[in-house]
Amino acid sequence: MAQLKILSVASECVPWAKTGGLADVVGALPKSISADMRVLMPAYPSIDLQGRTLWRDPDLFGGPARIVASKRDGLSLLLLDAPHLFDRQGGLYGDGADWPDNPLRFAALSWAGAQVAAGQLSSGWTPQIVHAHDWQAGLTPAYLKLLDIPVKSVLTIHNIAFQGLASRDQLAALRLPEQAYTPQGVEYYGLISTLKAGMVYADAITTVSPQYALELRSAEFGMGLEGLVQARAQDMHGILNGIDTQLWDPQNAEFAYSAASLHKKKRAREALMAECGLRGEGPLAIIVSRLTPQKGIDLLAHALPDFFEAGGMLAVLGSGEPSLQQALQQLAAQYPTQMSLRLGYDEAWSQRLFAGGDAVLVPSRFEPCGLTQLYGLRFGTVPVVARTGGLADTVVHANHAALSTGAATGIVHEHSSGDALREALLQLSALYRDQPTWKAMQSRGMRQDLGWKASSEQYLSLYRQLLRSQTL
Ligand code: ADP
Repeated sequence: MAQLKILSVASECVPWAKTGGLADVVGALPKSISADMRVLMPAYPSIDLQGRTLWRDPDLFGGPARIVASKRDGLSLLLLDAPHLFDRQGGLYGDGADWPDNPLRFAALSWAGAQVAAGQLSSGWTPQIVHAHDWQAGLTPAYLKLLDIPVKSVLTIHNIAFQGLASRDQLAALRLPEQAYTPQGVEYYGLISTLKAGMVYADAITTVSPQYALELRSAEFGMGLEGLVQARAQDMHGILNGIDTQLWDPQNAEFAYSAASLHKKKRAREALMAECGLRGEGPLAIIVSRLTPQKGIDLLAHALPDFFEAGGMLAVLGSGEPSLQQALQQLAAQYPTQMSLRLGYDEAWSQRLFAGGDAVLVPSRFEPCGLTQLYGLRFGTVPVVARTGGLADTVVHANHAALSTGAATGIVHEHSSGDALREALLQLSALYRDQPTWKAMQSRGMRQDLGWKASSEQYLSLYRQLLRSQTL
């Protein structure tokens, strides 16, 4: 069978541009799927623009733009070079605060995606399916439908909390027709939402775990879009993320180890404790996270004192909201030998934490899929997670039944509760003292298949299903 041609449209892709899990998914999927999948993304200033120019537009939302095709790192990239929109210092979305023209910047990306789908590349490459990611690419399915471009589309929601809002008076600037501004179209509580636009116009919607797909139907998690999620329930699919098992491999860590040589993990642990100045008899927990209320970081202050009292330790790597950073700094100052904190974004340090830690904490209030619990499983760093979204789908709680049948892979606690987190940390300390049980749990997680194969097969079968429905 000929390979399907898929265009993935996204604002982030590892290793070139990343603020969260979205980038990991966009970079990993093309490598594991048996399809000709190309990634259209903005040419941010850090990205080298070598390649072949396949499309030009003298006025893409206010300035000249082109698409440069380039193969690198095993990926076929289509880089959208639009200096007036993307050649900026700072983060991908702003420098401190969000850039006010973000709706336009990513409408331009979405528009370019629709042009590729319409067969505008000079190479003649045209996708059979467009796969748009999050609010930044949400307008691509809308443009496809509104411009009558006959290519089916899929929208993946990586996090419904980011909705791509713009004021109503930007409708024309976003190249949307007046008739699209209705509750059945792009209107969202008096504003425009580009995520909603994608959800309305895409032929299928996916999100990154089955549990999150169900949660999105409720007011608690749907963030005002639950009605639309319910209306489109037939077209909604939950497909779990995998991880890059080569990049995240304890055999490649500084002190290499595997499920069969778990005793070697101790060396990584000792080195980490020495470097962080930590002392204690209990488990060494780690956190690698954006510091936002979503991640439940504020629950730690309530839960940690008893954990530290029981001999536990914690090493945190994260960056984000100043108030949460300060709260963590205060805790770290209060417990200098039990807690260490590194503020910032640092992939190398994060790998060292996973290698040296005993457990990874993910106390999120909501979590579409979550990757750090998967890294934890891979590294024998037992996940302690909130029962929500992909966390609930990927960790088997160590209750009596799961422990006695040998199914447990971690600890799962009620979400959004400081008390539940405190209890979970005390259970962690108790389990850690029972070393035979602990080691069995570690190696069970490490032996799991966490790669992309299963998920990429599900995406492929969804694409095929859409193509079949087109020819009916
Ligand atoms: P989200 O996308 O909501 O931030 P995920 O768990 O899906 O959460 O993905 C987060 C990704 O970002 C993971 O790969 C995680 O290791 C990484 N990450 C988050 N914060 C940091 C940090 N401070 N340093 C290094 N990596 C980080």
